[in-house]
Amino acid sequence: MAETLEPALRTPAPIEHVDVLIVGAGISGIGGAYHLQEQCPGRSMVVLEAQDGFGGTWRTHRYPGIRSDSDLYTFGYRFKPWVGPPIATAPEILKYMEEVIAENGLDRVIRYGHRIRSARWDSATNLWTVEASRRDGTTARFTANFLWMCQGYYRHDEGYTPQWPGMDRFGGTIVHPQTWPEDLDHTGRRVVVIGSGATAATIVPAMAQDAAHVTMLQRSPTFFRTGRNGIDIADELRALQINEEWIHEIVRRKILFEQARFIDRTHTEPETVKAELLGQIRALLGDDYDIDRHFTPRYRPWQQRLAFVPDADLFRGIAAGRASVVTDEIETFTETGLRLKSGQTLDADIIVTATGFHLNVLGDIEVTIDGEALVFGDTVTYRGMMFTGVPNMAWVFGYLRAAWTLRADMVADVVCRLLNHMEQTGARRVEVALRPEDHNMPLGPWIDPEEFSSGYVARGNHLLPKRGDKPEWQHTHDYWSEKDALPAIDLTDPAFVYR
Ligand SMILES: Cc1cc2nc3c(=O)[nH]c(=O)nc-3n(C[C@H](O)[C@H](O)[C@H](O)COP(=O)(O)OP(=O)(O)OC[C@H]3O[C@@H](n4cnc5c(N)ncnc54)[C@H](O)[C@@H]3O)c2cc1C
Repeated sequence: MAETLEPALRTPAPIEHVDVLIVGAGISGIGGAYHLQEQCPGRSMVVLEAQDGFGGTWRTHRYPGIRSDSDLYTFGYRFKPWVGPPIATAPEILKYMEEVIAENGLDRVIRYGHRIRSARWDSATNLWTVEASRRDGTTARFTANFLWMCQGYYRHDEGYTPQWPGMDRFGGTIVHPQTWPEDLDHTGRRVVVIGSGATAATIVPAMAQDAAHVTMLQRSPTFFRTGRNGIDIADELRALQINEEWIHEIVRRKILFEQARFIDRTHTEPETVKAELLGQIRALLGDDYDIDRHFTPRYRPWQQRLAFVPDADLFRGIAAGRASVVTDEIETFTETGLRLKSGQTLDADIIVTATGFHLNVLGDIEVTIDGEALVFGDTVTYRGMMFTGVPNMAWVFGYLRAAWTLRADMVADVVCRLLNHMEQTGARRVEVALRPEDHNMPLGPWIDPEEFSSGYVARGNHLLPKRGDKPEWQHTHDYWSEKDALPAIDLTDPAFVYR
């Protein structure tokens, strides 16, 4: 690294020691810090965040209309009531997180502008040594007993853009939603958005308000659900002046109950569910619209994330003629837009590549265990939170279809319980290991492509730890079984090896 030649780096920095080092100040890291403070009082901690502020995903993404597609009753923490409309904008989510930080004094443990480069485990001392680059080119060094990985699952500084022929000759602007230029003015411009996931479904109606026209170009369709951005029971309970803690809990339970029923139906009666979802769209776009071509996916509902379109804004934009959908493939970029495989051309001033993320693991941190580079893809996961051969580390990976934070809260409980158990028993090191009965267990990719088939997962699955064929060696993505299984984890099970 060229920056290691900086004079400040030649003098070794003093090493600070903490009990727990949390990586990342997104929704998982802030939640982790809260739970650690509550459940393991007295434990020292630091949260290191590469960016200049908290928020993670909600700070990185600044494209027009940026909002959640989960409701905030379940995407919010279980310990802090959500009081706004269920689908929230990024600024609303950031404000909520800011309140959590302020109300719990967490700002004193967060260090912004610290990008962690390396984490080295040493079995002689049972400590991690972590090095982070600061903005000014200096290096901060820490030792920690435990690493709590809350770095998310994708690279924040760069989105995934496939390479198409002719991109360099396009005369307009190409932009990825993850790196949205502050000064991009789309007023009166022709826009093509490539992709049809939740991000595209947000950007299209938001830009369509001022653009000359917005075209959503998709290779294949996505399932959408629409509905009011409001929850009747929440409104009723508020009218009755029930306190917000109760409302939060009741609404969470109702949403989770209904989601469970819905998911169950996607397995037991997929065709009926499909007909209902398509029926919603037909009601908005009319019988003449080609729903088969543009809104009927090849996969079954729920096999990929099902995007929620609040107040049907995407479909209202299409119905009003301000937006349209084209289902085709790009042959080449041209000077003035795109030529598609069908021969159709799309003129554009701005092309938005809503084509997804670069999945990354462990925050691009170089991890070594006793001097050996960790090959993360060779490890086996214990319930998607710990990994064979990796001591004193837990990773928060939420749900891909239910709200991420449901799991972040539950993993935090397990980590805190584990830390308390180690303190009580005097253990300094914990590692998960396959038990004799697990040794011939078949291993597969972390995420079963049959269960979840999004592009970024398919592109990155080989980088992720493996799963076995027993629930304890899997990340099941099923909140409804994990809500009972995670609190019931027996920390004295031989899968946990302490020293
Ligand atoms: C546009 C968009 C919308 C989404 N909407 C939803 C939704 O509605 N519901 C849902 O459940 N999920 C949603 N997701 C998934 C979402 O990413 C997660 O739900 C959640 O925000 C992840 O939180 P996190 O804290 O685990 O990770 P992130 O939000 O990714 O935050 C990780 C943080 O760690 C920092 N970091 C990473 N590496 C390092 C390093 N080496 N050193 C220091 N810091 C580091 C990053 O800078 C970042 O701030 C969405 C994702 C995107 C991109």
